[in-house]
Amino acid sequence: MIYIIGEENRKRNNQLIMKARELANCMNDREIKLLFLGNKIIDTYKKYEVDEIILLKNSAYQMYYDNEKLVQTMIGLINEDDVDLILFPSNAQCRELAALLGARLDRALMTDCTNIWMQENECMGMKPSLDGTHFSICHFEGEKPYLAVVKNVESKVSAPGKKIEDIRVIEAKGSGSEDVHLICVERKEDAKKDIKDAEIIFAGGRGMLNEDSFLALRKLASLYHASIGGSRPVVDSGWASVDEQVGQTGSFVHPKVYLAFGISGAVQHIAGMKESQYIIAVNNQKDSPIFRYCDYGIYSDANSIVRNMINLLCQTGDK
Ligand SMILES: Cc1cc2nc3c(=O)[nH]c(=O)nc-3n(C[C@H](O)[C@H](O)[C@H](O)COP(=O)(O)OP(=O)(O)OC[C@H]3O[C@@H](n4cnc5c(N)ncnc54)[C@H](O)[C@@H]3O)c2cc1C
Repeated sequence: MIYIIGEENRKRNNQLIMKARELANCMNDREIKLLFLGNKIIDTYKKYEVDEIILLKNSAYQMYYDNEKLVQTMIGLINEDDVDLILFPSNAQCRELAALLGARLDRALMTDCTNIWMQENECMGMKPSLDGTHFSICHFEGEKPYLAVVKNVESKVSAPGKKIEDIRVIEAKGSGSEDVHLICVERKEDAKKDIKDAEIIFAGGRGMLNEDSFLALRKLASLYHASIGGSRPVVDSGWASVDEQVGQTGSFVHPKVYLAFGISGAVQHIAGMKESQYIIAVNNQKDSPIFRYCDYGIYSDANSIVRNMINLLCQTGDK
């Protein structure tokens, strides 16, 4: 049996299902179950090509997730099923959940897997190491289930089978953590959407030249209700946060429009944004590689374009 932890994004769920199907084919056609964590059934949980869909229901979910409770419920399920492998998507809750479950079960956990496969009956995984300059290939050992937090995996297998409508609901019970008690939940004022789900991204690179110009780019993005992204040097300089980095060691994004300001177009950056529907690049070097990947290229100073656009939008009152 293979468990997959689902999230709201269908594309990412389907990527994990394809990968699980590929692995299941090498494991005597093991069953695949898709587990959602939430407080109610929503339509996006339905119609996946798996053997069963389960909602691990946690009533307080909208406010707060109690991974301790979820872990206790999952251990109950794992004991009922003969589970070989659990695939987690790489989001904040699931990374924490995987670590907690691995510790409670005392089972092997591989994080940041960019690929996972079976080789001579061994389950293998690949992950970046040494600050992303190398890849490590590891294999799981010890008792099953093995746990893997998986990021941007690709599978050539399509997932034939019938789509499931019914969802089994299991209430996440248990005492939760004895040492940690929830007092209140406060939403961060600047809480933002996950860049991976953004429809429009304004991304800046070293060509923005300084933090003030990057702040201007942020303002422009907010005027368009868009998300902000950055290249690695911009994140290293502290102008953008780690979760805003686009590229091989950041997020893989696929917005409708990706606007790259002062980004050269290094392969590691392109890897993370090449699936964008339209790419618009602004760069002051005619032979910059980014111009080979964009749909529209503007050969100009990025900072003047940003400031002129802000002025124009503010003048017309189109905020
Ligand atoms: C293992 C590994 C993983 C990596 N992962 C990532 C990753 O996830 N994401 C990532 O982004 N990088 C990553 N990198 C780094 C990557 O190789 C590049 O160094 C980086 O993407 C370059 O960022 P940049 O385009 O902002 O800067 P630069 O390459 O310095 O480019 C700046 C660009 O701005 C232009 N410019 C300068 N001034 C102006 C101006 N006034 N107006 C307009 N344009 C201007 C220049 O012409 C130039 O094209 C990784 C590298 C390695 C080795």
